Amino acid sequence: MKLLLSLNKISSWKLKNNYPFIVYKTMTKKVSKLIFLLILFVIIISDVKSANLYKIPSDQDIEAYFLSNDSNRNGMIICSIHGNEDLAYRVLKNLVYKSSYFPSDFNYIIVLQPSKYRIDNKRRTNYEGLDPNRTFLNLYSKSAQFIIKLVNQYNPLFLIDIHQTSNNSSNFFYSFGNFDKIIKNIYSIYQKYKIANRSIYCDDYYMLIDLQKDLQSESIKIFSSLGVKIDKYKAPNRDDSYNSVSVLRNFSTINGIFSVLFEFSFDSKNDQLLEILLNKYLFYLSTVSDKLINYSWLCKKIEKYYFKDRYFLVSNHYDNLLRLLEILDFFYIKYYYNVEKIDSVMFLEISNLDLLEVQEFKNFIYLDLKLNLRNKILDQGLDSFVIFEQNMLSSFLLNPLYLESIWNFVVLPYGRKYIPLYLYVKRN
Ligand SMILES: [Zn+2]
Repeated sequence: MKLLLSLNKISSWKLKNNYPFIVYKTMTKKVSKLIFLLILFVIIISDVKSANLYKIPSDQDIEAYFLSNDSNRNGMIICSIHGNEDLAYRVLKNLVYKSSYFPSDFNYIIVLQPSKYRIDNKRRTNYEGLDPNRTFLNLYSKSAQFIIKLVNQYNPLFLIDIHQTSNNSSNFFYSFGNFDKIIKNIYSIYQKYKIANRSIYCDDYYMLIDLQKDLQSESIKIFSSLGVKIDKYKAPNRDDSYNSVSVLRNFSTINGIFSVLFEFSFDSKNDQLLEILLNKYLFYLSTVSDKLINYSWLCKKIEKYYFKDRYFLVSNHYDNLLRLLEILDFFYIKYYYNVEKIDSVMFLEISNLDLLEVQEFKNFIYLDLKLNLRNKILDQGLDSFVIFEQNMLSSFLLNPLYLESIWNFVVLPYGRKYIPLYLYVKRN
């Protein structure tokens, strides 16, 4: 601004004064040299300011940025995944250019428009009418595929997912992903079917709970300090959502990312509220980056400990194996073709199968599989199986006990009697 003013001053000075030709010419030369230098200066300055903002290559429908502070720690912000909740897009589209808004301890991956089509048309659902925030396992939206790739590529330490809600009882609602609750859910299912081989309740698990509580209560303090009405977000018709990972908050949580859902009410004052609150919260997160690293490390340690000696086996003869591998490759789930000698596995027999439309899985119809778990002595050679590591993600994707498993979406065009999947749990 100052530079522009001085440029204006110079040109008006040049016009007003009526010097002899020779002087005028010299002055013009000097002035143009000065103007040239100033323009160069302005270009250099503006270049320095915006040099750290890169557009992430994507499908035309998606707009995302990488704001680099040359840090080795990344954070992620997802705006307006539901196109009718455009607050975050509206506010962040101006902020991405203000690098001073974002604390410099982190780099930021900002998905500004998960879908231009949805935002332009104020659509909650994608073209096919599916809720995009239900597609983080079944991959039925480009935005979910894109965000999953970013999560894998950048390994963020935190993820903020910004939505809007028609609930007007508060200005702002928050909800955290809880790694402990999700893994506890997996553990309780294994207990129910008597296939748990070790207890989840180890020292690391309790350390994680303490750290999580600490981060969450400090976060709530930040939210409360804004002096507006805030509340914990509860999705309608649901008490506990920790058995579904198709929503982004839980999907990122199982990857050991400290994840927070922001929900703002549809109130015009909330544009300003989001701008202030997000800034304050990012500054808070930049002061606890060591805790966030510890959080991620603990999640991964617990996961490794709990899923050790557990595998999924899928028959080599399964006709849709390539499709299955393609999906698991996308999620970076490891598999092998060789394993030590296994005599006995458990397999899941379908005892009943129904179509199910559950309110909480809006717009999706699921197969409700009633399963019996049976032991089986392997009569096939081991070379006729593909062996998958069990971990948080593969447990949701492959285990048909979960409504969101792959078997429900892509690869179940076979008889109703069984799924070509075996569980192998090494007993200690
Ligand atoms: Zn939403």
